[in-house]
Amino acid sequence: MNKTLQIISIQHELSMNMGTDLDLHKMLNTFLQRAHNRLSLSSISVFYDEMEKVLSFPMHEDKNVQWLSAQVVIFAKQEQLTHQYLQHKDHHFYFLTVPNFGVLVLERTHQVIDKMILNSLLPLLPKLATSCQACIDHQNLLDEIAGRIRAEQSLIAQSLLDPLTGIPNRKLFNLNLSKALDKASKDGKFGAIFFIDLDRFKLINDSLGHSVGDQVLKNIGQRFLTCTREGDTLARVGGDEFVLLALDLSHDRNVAADKAKHIAENLSKLIAKPIEIEGNTLTMSISTGIILFPLIDHKEMTTEQQSTALVRSADLAMYRVKHASRNGYSFFSQDLQFHSDKRTQIEKHLHTAIRNDEFEVYYQPLIDAKGQLAGAEALLRWNSKELGFVSPADFIPIAEESGMILEFGNWVLAQVCQLIQSWPKRSGSTFGGYISVNISPRQFLQQDFIDKTLATLNTYRVNSEQIRIEITEGVTLGNIDLSVSKMQKLRAYGIHCMLDDFGSGYSSLSYLHKLPLKTIKIDRSFISNIDQSKDHQVIVEAIIDICEHFELECIVEGVEHKGEYQYLSSKKVTAFQGYYFHKPMNKQNFLDVCK
Ligand code: C2E
Ligand code: MG
Ligand code: MG
Repeated sequence: MNKTLQIISIQHELSMNMGTDLDLHKMLNTFLQRAHNRLSLSSISVFYDEMEKVLSFPMHEDKNVQWLSAQVVIFAKQEQLTHQYLQHKDHHFYFLTVPNFGVLVLERTHQVIDKMILNSLLPLLPKLATSCQACIDHQNLLDEIAGRIRAEQSLIAQSLLDPLTGIPNRKLFNLNLSKALDKASKDGKFGAIFFIDLDRFKLINDSLGHSVGDQVLKNIGQRFLTCTREGDTLARVGGDEFVLLALDLSHDRNVAADKAKHIAENLSKLIAKPIEIEGNTLTMSISTGIILFPLIDHKEMTTEQQSTALVRSADLAMYRVKHASRNGYSFFSQDLQFHSDKRTQIEKHLHTAIRNDEFEVYYQPLIDAKGQLAGAEALLRWNSKELGFVSPADFIPIAEESGMILEFGNWVLAQVCQLIQSWPKRSGSTFGGYISVNISPRQFLQQDFIDKTLATLNTYRVNSEQIRIEITEGVTLGNIDLSVSKMQKLRAYGIHCMLDDFGSGYSSLSYLHKLPLKTIKIDRSFISNIDQSKDHQVIVEAIIDICEHFELECIVEGVEHKGEYQYLSSKKVTAFQGYYFHKPMNKQNFLDVCK
């Protein structure tokens, strides 16, 4: 009776000490300690996963641990066995299976465990297994949650950082800018945004490869970082574009502007030091656009709208530097905004200009040395329904940049060919001259430019001598050999090329003799008041001499006054073009002139 009570008490106590904690180690520790005391053991150990010792209580002091481990392995492999007794010297070992978990080893020295007590332990083992499994499941769950949190955090970090340079990306920049705007509107301290673009970075990528380009970007990102203070944000927002957000410059706008200027100069200095990459020594420069914030006229906008407007403005200011000379900085100003808005408007409406029938080709006659009509230049006119008349000087560069010029150029050529085709029938004139068509560099460099041109001429049965092509020096800048071979091909088909606006651009004389040209058109800036300007006379006469030497025709553009014509008429000029003779005119008026 006494013994039965003792067994029940042990059973009860041990089962109460199971599942006391969700941490496997702690739970087993409590259980083993109890069992150790109640069963007067010299040691108790748990082996998990057949081999690995999870815990012993107290630590097994037997020198023969290896022997014990080997026994555990043997026992664990015998799937059916629930318990086994082994004696080793004067140590008595009891191996008990904890189902689906491992093995429990009890050790008593000098004295065996009572068989009844031992048997009473057996029903506890599945319970112990369940408790162990609960702890393991719980731990797995914790691990999984922690893993998921870690993964989420790393995803967030990744989505806010630029993978190449490791610095913030546009998203993080925008987040920080929003905070900065809120702060600046409260504390009234001016901050600044710097939009930084590397000059001629494309050249590095194209000539040295993207791997060198990537290293340059990394190197520059690190250099810029040395220029930032705590709280500033430097981000990479595009291929070679960085933005810097500098906070808390000053309460005073002028002081803030001075500080921003100083930062911009520092950025440029940082870049000026040569970069050594894979045996290349690269010297870089940057163009930086700056805008201070907060702006007074931004008060009505949401923070998000302000952010977008500010970055765009800094970008615009950067573009001004690019278009001027590169390598420098510029503050945003309102006139810049005005030009940008105008540009946006033009670009928006230009897309539909042909479809809406808003284009018209005008013709400006060319008068030869005898005062006869030698030909005409076709000039595109745009009368926009929304914007009214827009000058080609304003829309042609936009069409060129956006690629729309290709469509426009084809359209102009088709119109000109149509006019030539209708010529004999409509005017009955004997005009045997040509019409020159302006071809933009982008159009000229198109791979199928010659084929397309010939096809159009063919469609309207136009003789190739009746068309000429006006190109500018821009065409030769890209690839002079390619341009030369195109011009030669055109000439072989009987289409002549004229070099437009000569003198206004780079006008490198070194390549002039290489170009298979028919004509040079001297830019009108040299013709203006030529009768009164000795400088212009010297330049124009030199160009006329060059033309004579290379057997090129020479046309002067922009003759506006009698005095200019009188001066020029004594020179070897092939033809004259200008308001003094005719302004550009519509098709009907031109046909009248041709009669
Ligand atoms: P450009 O090819 O040099 O054309 C001559 C420009 O000088 C024309 O300006 C013409 O109206 C103007 N002009 C002619 N005589 C005088 C004069 O006596 N005084 C003054 N002040 N100006 C004179 P426009 O039509 O405004 O065209 C400007 C430029 O736009 C052209 O310069 C040409 O580069 C471009 N362009 C015009 N039409 C086309 C076209 O169909 N395709 C392409 N790619 N460019 C075109
Ligand atoms: Mg022209
Ligand atoms: Mg011209």
